[in-house]
Amino acid sequence: MAKKPAPSAPNSPLPKSGDLLAWYDRHRRRLPWRALPGRHPDPYAVWLSEIMLQQTTVTAVKPYYETFLARWPTVEDLANAPVADVMTAWAGLGYYARARNLHKCAGVVAADHSAQFPDTEDALRALPGIGPYTAAAIAAIAFGRHAVVVDGNVERVMARLFAVTDPLPGSKHRLRELAAGLTPKARAGDYAQGVMDLGATVCTPKSPACVICPWVESCQGRKLGIAETLPRKAKKVETPLRHGVAFWMLRADGCVALQRRPPKGLLGGMTEVPGSAWRSKIWSASEAAAAAPLKAKWRALPGLVTHTFTHFRLEVAVRATDLTPAQARKLGEGVIWTPLTHIGRAGLPSVMAKVAALAMRAIE
Ligand code: SF4
Repeated sequence: MAKKPAPSAPNSPLPKSGDLLAWYDRHRRRLPWRALPGRHPDPYAVWLSEIMLQQTTVTAVKPYYETFLARWPTVEDLANAPVADVMTAWAGLGYYARARNLHKCAGVVAADHSAQFPDTEDALRALPGIGPYTAAAIAAIAFGRHAVVVDGNVERVMARLFAVTDPLPGSKHRLRELAAGLTPKARAGDYAQGVMDLGATVCTPKSPACVICPWVESCQGRKLGIAETLPRKAKKVETPLRHGVAFWMLRADGCVALQRRPPKGLLGGMTEVPGSAWRSKIWSASEAAAAAPLKAKWRALPGLVTHTFTHFRLEVAVRATDLTPAQARKLGEGVIWTPLTHIGRAGLPSVMAKVAALAMRAIE
């Protein structure tokens, strides 16, 4: 089928990067990882923030960023920290592979680059956990390189500015070309942060505030009255649902049995409430009993924990038992006995924190 031509609004002047930079100079967001005007950005701070901001909001990142920077002020400090401490400090921020790669990347920078981040996109991309977007963002923001930085905010602004009606993800390449055409050689880092700020504060997904936009005169999407409908997105495939069972095992002294997940895979290296595999079929009572770490009098607790991961949704039923001393011994050495009063400091990822909350509510 022939491709539909993009609609065009006649008499629109071309957008200029200078207009955006002038707007950025007046309206830039104050963020803890951003260098003040006239100061050189710290590449370690830029890298840390960019990794944390992947798939995560600024509001969620701020307290984690501040904690990490206070606890590990340099890349060498982070490289020398035990990985379990880094994973625990990351608990609650999600996408835990980022934390493992963060620690690995700090190690590589400290050992192979004399604790200095490389300053080109290619060299940055060779580091663990740094993909094309993050490499471009660090190269532009920390080192002022002419790199094209394209995230969801930038895609939205470009789609509206040039009235790109083809849906994402098919239109990604086109949007990137348009972003590249606008990126200036000088002040590429400020420009990148400027478009991100524009997308986050003015050209927002719903009700863009076009009257205060520095590109209002050039915006074809606005002139055609379709800005708010852009970018269009291809229909999503339904996210699959998986089911699991968590086993809440309490010792007489008020300690619950936790364990560490294997280092690789989803939530790798994180602390968890022991549980079954996660599968597409609901677990029957007899299947759950067979999957439990030991034979015991299991009680099904009321309620269900629900959690959404990137590629699937999860529902976890929780079963509980009070362990006899012999049963507690049987669980072996891999168990992390955690007093219920310390559960908040156990470094549980969000889904496991929900399991603990459900169990503690039910047992109270
Ligand atoms: Fe977005 Fe409106 Fe600016 Fe166009 S004019 S880029 S739609 S805020």
